[in-house]
Amino acid sequence: MKKITLLLILVLSLSLFFSCKSEPYDSHVHKYEKVIYSLSEENKVLKTTICSCGAKNVEIVENAVVVTPETALSVLDSNNSGIIYFSEGEYKEELGIRHSKDASTAIKTSTNEKVDIQALNNETTGNYNYYRTVNNLTLIADENAVFTKDFKVRVGHIYGTADNKPKDPVRDIELVDTNTAFYSYIDIDGIKFYNMKFSEGARLYFHYSSLDCHAKNVEIERCSFTGLESSKEKTQAIKFNADITDESGRMFENLKISNCVIKTYNQGIYTQSLNNVTVSGCDISDVKHNAIAIQASQDKFPFTGSVLIDNNKIKNGSDRAIRFGVGENATIVVSNNTIEKTHDENNEVLKAQPLTNCTHEFVNNTYIGKTMKEVSEPNWIVSFE
Ligand SMILES: [Zn+2]
Repeated sequence: MKKITLLLILVLSLSLFFSCKSEPYDSHVHKYEKVIYSLSEENKVLKTTICSCGAKNVEIVENAVVVTPETALSVLDSNNSGIIYFSEGEYKEELGIRHSKDASTAIKTSTNEKVDIQALNNETTGNYNYYRTVNNLTLIADENAVFTKDFKVRVGHIYGTADNKPKDPVRDIELVDTNTAFYSYIDIDGIKFYNMKFSEGARLYFHYSSLDCHAKNVEIERCSFTGLESSKEKTQAIKFNADITDESGRMFENLKISNCVIKTYNQGIYTQSLNNVTVSGCDISDVKHNAIAIQASQDKFPFTGSVLIDNNKIKNGSDRAIRFGVGENATIVVSNNTIEKTHDENNEVLKAQPLTNCTHEFVNNTYIGKTMKEVSEPNWIVSFE
């Protein structure tokens, strides 16, 4: 038996060796890296991968739902997984993962009884809990699609006040107080945003508050965010706000932000209380406050896990390039970044609040034209001279 296995391995490896050798060889093996999506004349989504030599590979993306600015929200309201393709055009309406009769279920808050969500309407009063679960949802935008309003995911108690009257999209009513309101439960495991171009200060905004819900495995790739001069006052381009009011724990896990461009905001990337984050290949400029801020919620729910900030270009900011809040049990690596004219009034480029049981490394970063100096105690600070 052993001899046969060995012989099989030998034959397999030999055949593999010769099949490689006999393949047509055009100076290099194509490494398809750049990916562009487009629509065919038959309204099929095409994925084109391009090698640095110019060679292209085109394939059809099966089962992608193609939306327009007019249909985007209703399609988002009825799909908890799959691929949604935003065709060209200006998306002027706020989009997001919200509640709907198609995607959510409901219970009456006071009795904890399951109710038929289809039966709720604009005459239904009282408080309801709405539940929605999203798994492996991919959002891809056409090269000529632009988003001028926020994309939001909101978890928590949603009710009206004198100055804020949010909508209940299930009952199709405006909420004016707490007597008729809802608790939004949205659990996400796998959501990807690809090539979405946000403009006019629009944000990608996850706001999670107090309910035991999570957004895990979130990828934001090759997206761009262009703010207005007024966005520099208080707007964050990518925001993961863990507005924790109880001990329900960490809300965000495994966030990957890559090859994004962010320009003219108050902060570029702002996260709270997450476990594992990577920010790589991003280009962040003209931010008034921190370019990248990995924070704790209320200074007491720390970020944890692997934190990698690699190969980003940060320039023309008016405060620190990188800010860490309270961290615990984290492995922090800041590597291969190029920073230019981005520091606070003490020439600090990076600053951390107390890091408990964390390791941190600062390797191969460049502050254009200056020498950087690292101080580890009591706070981790990198400044230049
Ligand atoms: Zn090639």
